[in-house]
Amino acid sequence: MRILQAFTEEQLQHCDARFWGMVDTSGDCWLWHGARTRKGYGVFTVYALQTGTVTTMSGHRYAFIRANGWEPESTDHLCPNKLCVRPTHLEGVTSAENTRRKPRKQFCNHGHPLTLDNLYIYRSKTRMHRSCRTCRRERNRIYWAGYSGNRSAVTTPEVTT
Ligand SMILES: [Zn+2]
Ligand SMILES: [Zn+2]
Repeated sequence: MRILQAFTEEQLQHCDARFWGMVDTSGDCWLWHGARTRKGYGVFTVYALQTGTVTTMSGHRYAFIRANGWEPESTDHLCPNKLCVRPTHLEGVTSAENTRRKPRKQFCNHGHPLTLDNLYIYRSKTRMHRSCRTCRRERNRIYWAGYSGNRSAVTTPEVTT
């Protein structure tokens, strides 16, 4: 199903301009201000006046396809914000992945809730990761504590000229 294939790149660039005009990119999540579906997702109409081609899709799906260049079976949010259309907060899912998909973790391994303000999203070579900010901060604290501890033990070598 390659819906956007019906449009030329030039037509899609016009749609992009319309699309991003309805998005607030000031926060960590980029929020859609346009029309919504009953389920609370953004809905965007892609159209080309020249050819009369029209299609409607969810806003985050459009953002994902335009950013990544392929059309997934479904588009998931890595963040808990249904209206977020920030491409780095989105993940394309193929049908094979969809069927063996586990529900997303709501808590980290240490029991901190993975809510928006505690969620740290990053990309590795292979995929996107959701991790816990609290645990990350704690790891950094231990790392730097160890570093300053070791440093005091290191003596500056005598400099001979
Ligand atoms: Zn987001
Ligand atoms: Zn944690």
